[in-house]
Amino acid sequence: MNNPATPSETPTSTARAPQAAAEAGTAPLLPGSTLGVLGGGQLGRMFVHQAQAMGYFTAVLDADPTSPAGLVSHHHIQTGYEDPQGLAELARLSDAVTTEFENVPAAALAKLAEQRPVSPAASAVSVAQDRAREKAHFVACGVPCAPYAVIESAEQLAAVSPDLLPGILKTARMGYDGKGQVRVKTPAELTAAWDSVGQVPCVLEKMLPLQLECSVLVARGADGSMVHLPVQRNLHREGILAVTEVYEGNLPTALAEQAVAAAKSVAEGLQYVGVLCVEFFVLQDGSLVVNEIAPRPHNSGHYSQNACDVSQFELQVRTMARLPLTQPRQHSPAVMLNLLGDLWFADGDTAQTPPWAEVLALPGTHLHLYGKREAKRGRKMGHLNITAATAEAARATALKAAALLGIAPF
Ligand code: ATP
Ligand code: MG
Repeated sequence: MNNPATPSETPTSTARAPQAAAEAGTAPLLPGSTLGVLGGGQLGRMFVHQAQAMGYFTAVLDADPTSPAGLVSHHHIQTGYEDPQGLAELARLSDAVTTEFENVPAAALAKLAEQRPVSPAASAVSVAQDRAREKAHFVACGVPCAPYAVIESAEQLAAVSPDLLPGILKTARMGYDGKGQVRVKTPAELTAAWDSVGQVPCVLEKMLPLQLECSVLVARGADGSMVHLPVQRNLHREGILAVTEVYEGNLPTALAEQAVAAAKSVAEGLQYVGVLCVEFFVLQDGSLVVNEIAPRPHNSGHYSQNACDVSQFELQVRTMARLPLTQPRQHSPAVMLNLLGDLWFADGDTAQTPPWAEVLALPGTHLHLYGKREAKRGRKMGHLNITAATAEAARATALKAAALLGIAPF
């Protein structure tokens, strides 16, 4: 610039602000910076793809040399989550760090936070890691959840109210995709179930009469600003998400608004920074009950990659890079089909390749595969997003794709 500021001009805030903001850790991390992620699964992979599309460098920490995210990242640190050298290397390479795996040890996040901005914070992740703490947080936020009891001792087991039966015993920690859960009808079954999970801390939840399930993704910035994606209607099969449908009318409007408000208060209560998924049950009487939270993008938000102008992974990049959050807009009705490893098997053990060419001949189909080397039954291998001009058309195409793939109709 050939017109430097004259003494008569007050120093511009634009000149000073970035430096002050950088010192306070509030300036945006611009493209060219390196974003780090703990965990190398499919969520990390899609985060890496998005970050790279926006001009960032990426670093992934995951011990598996063939992890889906590690395979596509600029840097891949192949150590366990608690390895001090691995964590130090991640901090050295990264300008900010996030997680894609909620069971990452909170201590690892806390360690990284000594050196780099980490979002979400260890304190928030540790709530999501423990069903007992998670439920206590819902109660504190005034968001209704299923009636439950914490079971950590034989005394607490004996004191369980019969009102909670039939119920689902869930291990307090390390559960996912319905793992670590036992359905129980009687006190004797409850005792046997607690034995079967090794008497680890659990919660017993009352079995509720579900009408449907839904979830909301919210993104909250370090400045407290919050945006959300449209409410997802989810179908689970055998404890695993099978289908997500997102379009006008997928849920009654008042219910959707209630879910968004509840999700935002859960995020606010945690002073959350990052992308948070809040899962809900809608009971047969139409009431809304919160199920659980995931401190990261979520399988039910994958439709946003093709149906929204800002995806859940872009929201993750934006929150951790302290970029502005703008309210995402859904431009197409969408259905997402989860592609489980079962589709890679014909009857019994005979391996097969799903009919991708036929599926992709259907208009508005978008295939996402996670690069996993081996298909196993129940393993999430990828997903198919279907977009169309109308909800009816999206559903019709999704049903055709499901039939080609051998996914039961919905
Ligand atoms: P994920 O992490 O994959 O979402 P998870 O292992 O954490 O799953 P939950 O979300 O607790 O498991 O439960 C899995 C599914 O089981 C729910 O989506 C719902 O279909 C059913 N379920 C769980 N709790 C209850 C309940 N109290 N009453 C009725 N159904 C339930
Ligand atoms: Mg769940």
